[in-house]
Order: sequence, then C-alpha cells, then structure tokens
Amino acid sequence: MAGPHPGLAGRRTISAQALSAYQKLAKQLAGVGREMRNRGWALGTSGNFSAVITGQPLSLAITATGVDKATLAPQHVILVDDRGERLAGSGAPSAETALHLAVVRARNAGAVLHTHSVWATLLSERFAAAGGLSLEGYEMLKGLDGVATHEHAEWLPIIENRQDTVALARDVERSLQQHPLCHGFLIRRHGLYTWGKHLAEARRHVEVLEFLLEVVGRSQEQGSSLPMAPEGDARSGDDT
Ligand SMILES: [Zn+2]
Repeated sequence: MAGPHPGLAGRRTISAQALSAYQKLAKQLAGVGREMRNRGWALGTSGNFSAVITGQPLSLAITATGVDKATLAPQHVILVDDRGERLAGSGAPSAETALHLAVVRARNAGAVLHTHSVWATLLSERFAAAGGLSLEGYEMLKGLDGVATHEHAEWLPIIENRQDTVALARDVERSLQQHPLCHGFLIRRHGLYTWGKHLAEARRHVEVLEFLLEVVGRSQEQGSSLPMAPEGDARSGDDT
C-alpha cells in the first residue's frame, strides 16, 4: 500500500492512482493551456484550466493563479478538493476555482476551460443587455456535444462579472440551472467558460465556440446578417 506521498499538503490522503492521474492531467492541461495562449485566447496570466481527477470525493487539477500562460508547465497545476483547498502541488489555485467546481457539479463535467479572447470579451459586452447571445444556423455547431444539425440554436448566457468569486460561482450555478442545455457561458467583459466529459471534448468546445464568437463578431462588424440556410439541405456528418 502506498503511504502519503512526500510533498503533499492538506488533510486528505491521495491514492497512488489519483496521484498518477493528476500528474498525467497536469501535463495535458499545461499543453492545452499553452495552445490556448498561442491562439490568442489566454494572453498574459488570463484563463484557467481544470480536469476532474476523482469523482467521489471530488478532486480537481487546476492551473495556479498568476502564471503567464506562455510558460505554463505541469508544476503550475495544483490538485484541490471539493472546497478548492490544495491537496497537492505548490502555489495557489486559480482565483476562479469556485467557478470550475460549480460547473463540474452542475454539468458533471470532466474538464472545464476558461479563455479570455478578444471576441468573447467584445460580444459579452455587446449582448449583455439581452442576457446572452444565440449562435444558430452554423455548420460548426455540430462540434458541440449532442448537436447533429446546423439548425441548432445555442444560447450562450452572459453573466455579470464580479471580483467576489464565491458570489460569481452562485450566479453561474443559477444560470446553468436556467439554461440546462447550454455548452458554455460568457462573463461580461471577461471571457468564455466551456466544459466537456473529458479534456479533449472541452478543448474542442473552446475551439468551436471561439470560432462562432469570431464569426458573429466579424459579421456584425461588416453589417451583414446571417445568410439564410438553404432549404432541404439536411445532410449529416461530423467531418464537414
Ligand atoms: Zn477569467
């Protein structure tokens, strides 16, 4: 039997299996985080990324606060418990840990990714009065879990930003209850949150939603509206 691992802080003992899963996910989260930064979605210290390590009791690998995402490495990923208390790793977990935990609980997510792109920031302000924006009629929507047609309308709620992350996490819980089918949400003048059953799905959801936000933002800039979808074109497929 493995004893407590040297270097572990906190009250809970972590199994060797959970520790090994945490080390693997820390590497993957650092890689995804650097990719998000390199695509302009998590510049500077912005953005935070997490993945569930154990479900019962809950533990979450999450990026540390204040790390420049260009230099994000596995040692910047911390293991926390269901209250956001550190179980392993060094540094302080992201200030937005409470939001990640809220999403994991509400959606049974395996991974949560949060970006601060230019388009998410701009559109979260432009559509704030409406409480959200609808993404509809685009082929790219089929990249979202469970969406099989471009005729889907994806409502992306917009939540008012706050520095009190406990209160903000409560607002997130409320919004996720009100919009049980949404794949993500925006925080006003702040950024995008999305999630997935596992890290690969969450990463794909960032890519799909960031693409759609840019399309909506650019088409609004050009003063154009969405062209009508051709009638009777209901071919399906995941690779178009
Ligand atoms: Zn943020």
